[in-house]
Amino acid sequence: MTDEEFREKYGRDPVKPGQHTKVKVYWDRIIIALVLIILLIFGIVKGIMAIAGAIKGSDDSSSEVTDAAVSVSDDGSSDDSDTQPQQAQSYQFIVCLDPGHGGEDGGATDKSGKRWEKDDTFNMCSKIKEYLEAKGVTVVLTRDDDRLLSLEEICIAANDSKADLFVSIHRNSADEKFKGVEIWVNNHEPQADTLLASNLLTALDRVGINENRNVNYGFIGEPQSNYQVNRQTHMPSCLVELGFITNDKDNELLDKNFDAYAEAMADSLIQTAKELGIVNEDGSRLHEGQYLSSKPQWNRETNTYMTENGEVVFADAIDPNAEDKNLKRTDVEQPQQTTQQTNNDGTVG
Ligand SMILES: [Zn+2]
Repeated sequence: MTDEEFREKYGRDPVKPGQHTKVKVYWDRIIIALVLIILLIFGIVKGIMAIAGAIKGSDDSSSEVTDAAVSVSDDGSSDDSDTQPQQAQSYQFIVCLDPGHGGEDGGATDKSGKRWEKDDTFNMCSKIKEYLEAKGVTVVLTRDDDRLLSLEEICIAANDSKADLFVSIHRNSADEKFKGVEIWVNNHEPQADTLLASNLLTALDRVGINENRNVNYGFIGEPQSNYQVNRQTHMPSCLVELGFITNDKDNELLDKNFDAYAEAMADSLIQTAKELGIVNEDGSRLHEGQYLSSKPQWNRETNTYMTENGEVVFADAIDPNAEDKNLKRTDVEQPQQTTQQTNNDGTVG
């Protein structure tokens, strides 16, 4: 086949032996492509490094947040909150606060007759509630306005609220010369109740009180008896006599230290909940169900009390006219069980 015939048949020149199709190499284009690839790789590497750096940075800052939160919880203060992120702590327990008296029962009054116990107790409980709620504690007030509840109603409300701690606030009343703060606990001297009371008294004393009149057991002038709120409540409880309303200096101190007293009591309630193992240091709940005192537990239906070793006892009779040799009380929280049976072995519910 001639070249002519080949061209006619195949439409192109025949390839001769030793003759190869010439491939043109565009070196300029290859160089440009290589430069682009190098630039691209360089860009990708830079990008990855930048992203890695950003991730590491955020790790560092998040660990700073954690450290800050720990340091806040460690000392319980938030002094460094201006510079550090804040993490509100929530304490998972319930406090029942009982403002003594109310309504037609004003409680004790000062010399002028203008200052009433029921107002001091209500204002103080409201203030403690504020401080506690700011720290995430659930607070139940036995009364949130000016009304009178029976002592039994108060105890039932406290028990039904499933509160872990109970504090009744009162003001003392006597001759002008008597002064200072005292706290009352059930005469079975239950450990948790005693801890609650002594923590509160220590905290108040630290702020400054006219006289520390100690933690006392039973009922004033009647060690065999108990204040009803310390007898019929299920949880650790105490009754705080927050100074004598009949003493000018006590009133002055209460007014001057009002917020400080409330804050000190709120803090000591949190401290007590931690020490009793109701909550963890971080505020999370440890104790399952309502925290109960080791004092004899009141049975509302039978109106009896069961001691820790399962013995059922009756509340002792109390002479409502009993008076301390020194103090003449005008408080009305006289136990109401005067018609109840005296327990043979002298134990009190
Ligand atoms: Zn009172």
